[in-house]
Amino acid sequence: MGRKEQIKGKCLFCGHEATRAGMGKHFSKCSPLQEKINNSAKGKGKQQILFHLLVQDAWGGDFWLHMEMNGSAKLEELDSYLRYIWLECCGHMSNFTIGKQWGDEIPMRTKAERIFKRDITLFHTYDFGTSSETLVKVIGEREGSPLTKHPIVLMARNNLPEVSCMKCSKVAKWMCQECQIEHDESGLLCDEHVKNHPHDDYGEPIKIVNSPRLGMCGYDGPADPPY
Ligand SMILES: [Zn+2]
Ligand SMILES: [Zn+2]
Ligand SMILES: [Zn+2]
Ligand SMILES: [Zn+2]
Repeated sequence: MGRKEQIKGKCLFCGHEATRAGMGKHFSKCSPLQEKINNSAKGKGKQQILFHLLVQDAWGGDFWLHMEMNGSAKLEELDSYLRYIWLECCGHMSNFTIGKQWGDEIPMRTKAERIFKRDITLFHTYDFGTSSETLVKVIGEREGSPLTKHPIVLMARNNLPEVSCMKCSKVAKWMCQECQIEHDESGLLCDEHVKNHPHDDYGEPIKIVNSPRLGMCGYDGPADPPY
């Protein structure tokens, strides 16, 4: 069985780098985060259950997020967050189902605390045509005050996967969709080879951003977190 190298990411509290599984174990040892948790306990934020979520693209897991979500927040908040950071191209429909795609649908207005419990996995589908699928796994929970005024806190995120230019071996920063769709090539291009690239039937080459939806239905980012 081939094992490819796992994409690492960064803890947003201390900068520590780890794989998505390693990161799950890091947080209990992350002193800036633990300090924040202690401080928030003294604040006036409402005590509630807070869920530790591992969110990843369903088909490779190179793209992943660790986040903490308030138990009182609704699934629609998570849907908006995923759209903002990874998915939104043209306002397609989306849903959450239990365990697998096309399983029992969970209404968007459901509060996290009504559905989440340790080890449950929700399946998120964005766009029922050119669909993007995301797994949301509950890997922990704690009782406490939220760390911010937002319903979700991003705790760690994968680094942009490094890919090489199809013409040379330099790091690719661009992707040509015409190469992919019409010529069965990767379409990955470095800063040098993107210049004077001859294709524009599917638009100019798009900048590679940190999202599993890149290039699908013309998605071109920006793939930044909403907060
Ligand atoms: Zn850390
Ligand atoms: Zn679209
Ligand atoms: Zn190149
Ligand atoms: Zn091309």
